[in-house]
Amino acid sequence: MTGQMPGQGAAQGAQTFKRTCGTCTLCCKVYDIPAVPTAMGEWCAHCEPGKGCKIWESRPDQCRAFHCNWIMMDWLGEEWKPEIAKFVFTLDPTSGYLLFQVDPGVPDAWKREPYYSQIKTWAAEGLSRARGTLVFVNKAATLVMPDGDAQLGELKPEDRINIGPGGDGTIKVEVKRGQKPN
Ligand code: SF4
Ligand code: SF4
Repeated sequence: MTGQMPGQGAAQGAQTFKRTCGTCTLCCKVYDIPAVPTAMGEWCAHCEPGKGCKIWESRPDQCRAFHCNWIMMDWLGEEWKPEIAKFVFTLDPTSGYLLFQVDPGVPDAWKREPYYSQIKTWAAEGLSRARGTLVFVNKAATLVMPDGDAQLGELKPEDRINIGPGGDGTIKVEVKRGQKPN
């Protein structure tokens, strides 16, 4: 959960979905994709924004396997299409965290409506199951909480977020820096 393009799994990469990307290319800008030569937050050198990938047939496996939630979850409305929302919405397959990777050119896009209220609702539902909701602008993370958002700064692969009961019905959130991943 560090702003890298989440692995959606090879099996999902082979799936087909009703939706197609069309003119959206936002995942080719917002993620840190080690296999492409461009910095995160800038259009991949292989991308024609609004058109697609110039090396589609030979694109890296990480790109090939990736599908955002808007592609996979056709109950999400058109307003959640990343080129409209200005963020890419995914579900981390390992942790169950909801992840929003925002276009750094519009860093507050996720705070607009109808997004912010819905993200808050999902964040509250997730916390009751010890699952967080993280918004990234490049590698800077914000943990969305029902009663306020916590700026976590840059998250590294070895950083961990623990969510659990804090007593008296509260929920405790702890960020452990420098922990080795399991
Ligand atoms: S963000 Fe989603 S809809 Fe947009 S190009 Fe990537 S996979 Fe397609
Ligand atoms: S290689 Fe193609 S699919 Fe992958 S990020 Fe670049 S433009 Fe997008």
